[in-house]
Amino acid sequence: MKVDMHIHTNKSDGRDSVHNIIEAAEKKGLDLIALTDHGPGHGSGVTEKMVSQTKKEVELLQPSYHVKVLVGIEAEILSTGEVYLATREDMDIVLASYHGAPSEEVYYKAVLKALEDEKVDVLAHHAWSMGMRFGPILEYEDMLVEVLRDNDVAIEINSKHTLPSWDFLVKCRDAGIKYTIGSDAHKVVDVGSVSWANNTARHIFKNKGLFIP
Ligand SMILES: [Zn+2]
Ligand SMILES: [Zn+2]
Repeated sequence: MKVDMHIHTNKSDGRDSVHNIIEAAEKKGLDLIALTDHGPGHGSGVTEKMVSQTKKEVELLQPSYHVKVLVGIEAEILSTGEVYLATREDMDIVLASYHGAPSEEVYYKAVLKALEDEKVDVLAHHAWSMGMRFGPILEYEDMLVEVLRDNDVAIEINSKHTLPSWDFLVKCRDAGIKYTIGSDAHKVVDVGSVSWANNTARHIFKNKGLFIP
């Protein structure tokens, strides 16, 4: 099954419309995609209400396409560990990510708390914050694996940032944590650009444990 569970539309900071993204996904032979615009608290985020509107738009388009289109959000994790999302009503999938961590330590502490929020399905692009990848703090990585497992949160394999690290994903696999595949596309040409993620999933997870909402 060909999937891409992390795509931005022009409702947040993506360049292309919902319709054009679905067209592109269909042409590329994808079976399942998720539209996951940035949420409240992000500079170009959408509101929960805008996600409901996207969901209605998709419901009208869906009958004309083979590719199954889910609608969700990439919710912001705040430095307090709160997930900036009032409701996940009408959302098929909720990714959570922390874009603005001032330090690695703040990142880990906030993410550990955020994953206890039952609205969260997936931790997106782990170890990418403030526009760069950071090195792991091993004791926190081990705690993170436990919290992912205990709260039934999946880990995203993000093709754009080629993250998380191999070592971290092996730990996730060994703990029985599920994974998702994401391009983090911001334009149609990148929809379904998930070769790195697919190869990583094949090598580490042996393609077992794909999270489907
Ligand atoms: Zn992000
Ligand atoms: Zn994203």
